Amino acid sequence: MKPNSTVVIVGAGQAGFQAASSLRQAGFDGRILLVGDEPCIPYDRPPLSKSYLAGETGLDGLWLRPETFYQKERIELELGETVTAIDRQTRHVELASGRKIAYDRLILATGARFRPLSVAGAELDGVLPLRTLADADALRPRLAEAREAVVIGAGFIGLEFAAVARQAGVGVHIVEVTQRPMGRVVSEETSRFYTRAHRDWGSKVLLGTGVVRILGNGRVSAVETSDGRRLPADLVLIGIGVLPNTEIAAAAGLAIDNGIVVDQNLATTDPTIFAIGDCANYPSRFGRCRLESVQNAVDQGQAVAAAIVGESIPYDKVPWFWTDQADLKLQIAGITAGHDRAVLRGDSESRSFSSFFFRNGTLIGVESINRPTDHVVARRLLLADPRLSPEQAADSDFDLRAYATSLSRR
Ligand code: FAD
Repeated sequence: MKPNSTVVIVGAGQAGFQAASSLRQAGFDGRILLVGDEPCIPYDRPPLSKSYLAGETGLDGLWLRPETFYQKERIELELGETVTAIDRQTRHVELASGRKIAYDRLILATGARFRPLSVAGAELDGVLPLRTLADADALRPRLAEAREAVVIGAGFIGLEFAAVARQAGVGVHIVEVTQRPMGRVVSEETSRFYTRAHRDWGSKVLLGTGVVRILGNGRVSAVETSDGRRLPADLVLIGIGVLPNTEIAAAAGLAIDNGIVVDQNLATTDPTIFAIGDCANYPSRFGRCRLESVQNAVDQGQAVAAAIVGESIPYDKVPWFWTDQADLKLQIAGITAGHDRAVLRGDSESRSFSSFFFRNGTLIGVESINRPTDHVVARRLLLADPRLSPEQAADSDFDLRAYATSLSRR
């Protein structure tokens, strides 16, 4: 790329921020514009359902960098601005305010938005999602006043919210239509463990149960379930997942399939346009993936910067993820779906154990609960050629850390 080129980044979230700062770190000296429709500088989303919701972290603890960082790095921020269209012929993006901005390279880091629940009463006051800082700011005072909350959807966000609500003394029902909390991402064993944990913390967990409608007169008062119950509620959290923001990419004719389709260099079907983070569907050793995690947003932000400055290597990072719920920290390395064997390391009764998952004898993922060392080792193992046997993984006397170190020396 020419030295005076312009990179426009759509979406000032984790991935967009990372791409902008990594471009400078990689020596890109041209113009960088970071356009985001939220009114604030880029922030960390994970605390929104954890320490920020609980009132333990303030706003200052959320910003990914202070405002001065962007001036110093010559990253132009266009905040509170929505990109409404991409003109690939003339290489411009159009903003809702009517302005047009020219680009040489365009990075789509548009993330995802909460999936709305389409039942009667979903519009009532007190029925809220949790995706953005504005959502968290709306939820916090409601949680402080609530007596009975219903969480619809037992995914990560719903369960993190439930744990915080229970700690605040709020009565909680968790309603999940499948039989498995966090079932899209974690193994059956871990789902069962978390069902028990939430019940122990005092939440009523209703599995295999749908929501028929939400009741109330202006303000929410109850949730009616598919088995005919009426759960009292003065606060309802909708946590049924997200939808990738693909509309402007689709309108510009880029390939879409559960996200914006990219190749191993994170380029879309137009080689001047890239997509990263929650909105991108990329090829990996685990098959095509669209991941919703900080690791994915950060690693892809770094990778796209390398691609733009001409130092591209095919993107092939080990995915990892975490969730904090009360005193339990779950960390996941790799992708455990499709395993044919699972072994336990540690004792599940001790609330500190890891499950190692294998397919055709090969390690594909590890879920660690309150065992950060296993998680770190698992990431190193998955990065190398993980010829670890299930028997070695299950043997607490087998020194995993030494084994991982010996692999990385090879
Ligand atoms: P986003 O962070 O969603 O950023 C995309 C930005 O683009 C948004 O600001 C969006 O409004 C903006 N945008 C979209 N379209 C346009 C447009 N046309 N014009 C301008 N701007 C646009 N991950 C973990 O690994 N661990 C966790 O514990 C964890 N906890 C989480 C808790 C919560 C409450 C949430 C919401 C997420 C959590 N995640 C967690 C997920 C993680 O935060 C996301 O995977 C990550 O933020 C994705 O970054 P992104 O930049 O791809 O998308």
